[in-house]
Amino acid sequence: MQIQNAYLTHNRPKTRRSRTTAIAVHWVANPNSTAMANRNYFNTTSRAVSSNYIIGLQGEILCCIPDEETSWCTNEANSYTVSVECCHPDWTGCFTGKTYTSLVKLTARLCQKYHLDPQNGGVIRHYDVTRKICPKWFVPASRGGSDTNDERHWKQFLHDVAQQMQRGSTAIPTPAAEPDSYRVRVTVDALRIRKGAGTSYAITGCIRDKGVYTIIKTCGNWGKLKSGAGWICLGYCRKL
Ligand SMILES: [Zn+2]
Repeated sequence: MQIQNAYLTHNRPKTRRSRTTAIAVHWVANPNSTAMANRNYFNTTSRAVSSNYIIGLQGEILCCIPDEETSWCTNEANSYTVSVECCHPDWTGCFTGKTYTSLVKLTARLCQKYHLDPQNGGVIRHYDVTRKICPKWFVPASRGGSDTNDERHWKQFLHDVAQQMQRGSTAIPTPAAEPDSYRVRVTVDALRIRKGAGTSYAITGCIRDKGVYTIIKTCGNWGKLKSGAGWICLGYCRKL
């Protein structure tokens, strides 16, 4: 799972939550719009709306606000929830397979990070807070949504997140840093991540936070990111 940082410069209150007791799931309610288009909307609208994450139609994950910080997404629950918005192709609110898979993985990772039980209140819908039809795919038909009245979509999702948490802890061990690893600070606003050590390799992401990253392997002027996201050109970094 790869997360691209595309932090907002507007509608980001920069308030750290003192507690995080749930992950709140949403739909963007704008069929066929992309994750980046929704992110750009948050960044320019005069309305006070934003989200920690947005998942796109291809399963891409944008982080708009670091998940330790408050976003303006879930009304009175903003102070204790991480918000995740999902794109969708049409007005049924059904997610693409790729969006759904990313939503399961991201939610599982956040539940692990904040020690939440998805099947015991650790994952909620916007609907649970305000009765808004959001996300529509997980709201029962009797309330205007696209789920069955016994909430089969929603229950399956919570089950899938719980399963992913179990899988995640066994199948995907965190790789230990190699002894010759070192840290660098990115010095440019946007630094492309590539599949291999050179500009001929495909772009797999972009670093936009001028943050500190750990390099575990060096090849010429290129360094391999510890996260597994790919390689970056060290000419745009300062070694720490
Ligand atoms: Zn919502």
